[in-house]
Amino acid sequence: MRALLLEQQNDQTLAQVKDIDSARLPEGDVTVEVNWSSLNYKDALAITGKGKIVRNFPMVPGIDFAGKVSSSKDSRYKVGQSVVLTGWGVGENHWGGLAEQARISGEWLVPLPKALSERKAMILGTAGFTAMLCVMALEEGGVKPEDGDILVTGASGGVGSTAIALLAALGYSVTALSGRESNTDYLKSLGAKEVLPRRGYVEAPRPLEKQLWAGAIDTVGDKLLARVLAQMNYNGTVAACGLAGGYLLPTTVMPFILRNVRLQGVDSVHTPLHRRQTAWERMAEILPASFYAQATHEIVLEEVPAAAAALMNNQITGRTLVKIS
Ligand code: NDP
Repeated sequence: MRALLLEQQNDQTLAQVKDIDSARLPEGDVTVEVNWSSLNYKDALAITGKGKIVRNFPMVPGIDFAGKVSSSKDSRYKVGQSVVLTGWGVGENHWGGLAEQARISGEWLVPLPKALSERKAMILGTAGFTAMLCVMALEEGGVKPEDGDILVTGASGGVGSTAIALLAALGYSVTALSGRESNTDYLKSLGAKEVLPRRGYVEAPRPLEKQLWAGAIDTVGDKLLARVLAQMNYNGTVAACGLAGGYLLPTTVMPFILRNVRLQGVDSVHTPLHRRQTAWERMAEILPASFYAQATHEIVLEEVPAAAAALMNNQITGRTLVKIS
């Protein structure tokens, strides 16, 4: 099988497409012929070696994939069935989706929702799935469209773009926060009512600022998240899933104890199966057909290392889909 293989040489990560004997695939009760994968922030960290994502080499990266079952010892999955996988450490400590085949535990799979093709599932991928989990976190925090504006940070990225489209389709009024003014039209076409520049959010905030947001989805972290917390309406909810700007959170207790603000963390790796299925079904239902054309560009396996470097340099907008076979 052809696969992108990560190897470690002199403390550097090398990423090359290689022919590998499929007998080297890891243990697992289901084997999948991978048709599509995608490039996520975590993949880019792993492939460029900029983040300590991979602990054991050689590793096939790719934290998500969609394809057809080619053999199965799990009674829930039949040969020929379309499936989707995100998370569970696949592409980090278990060979992942940037290869023609993957062998995994049936516990980690989700049957492809009827309304999605395998290609569409990977346009969404881990980023889209995480965006849906963030929207569900706002809903569970009681945030309703009539409560006020929702802020989405890191708006041009995979999670941010999908979150904007999901929220707009659900009737929320969305403000996008972006470091790239050139993406204003794109973000508005996804459904953002307004686009704010990131530069207004780089300074450390006061403990409490003017109340602006009923809800927020944050993919950036650090001072930017601290400022968003200081600007939340009374009873607002922030769903925090990312660290594109850093892993620190220099905030105070004031938004929590004086404005009843809720900060809900969102993890997509270990999400239980039932919630995964709900999130996939809901994404398939909510997103308009136009989203899949707007937010995507498509590459092949050989182009992945360069695309990963571009993603790390914040030169990619929306989702990068990888055609495997
Ligand atoms: P992308 O790289 O596609 O998007 C990140 C966006 O953040 C960029 O497009 C950019 O948007 C903004 N950004 C980039 N660098 C900085 C910076 N230094 N300071 C502030 N903003 C910046 O990544 P994804 O959308 O795939 O992922 C976003 C984050 O969410 C990542 O940190 C990722 O690790 C995390 N994540 C977490 C998951 C979980 O399970 N918790 C799952 C999936 C992702 P713009 O130019 O518009 O400002």
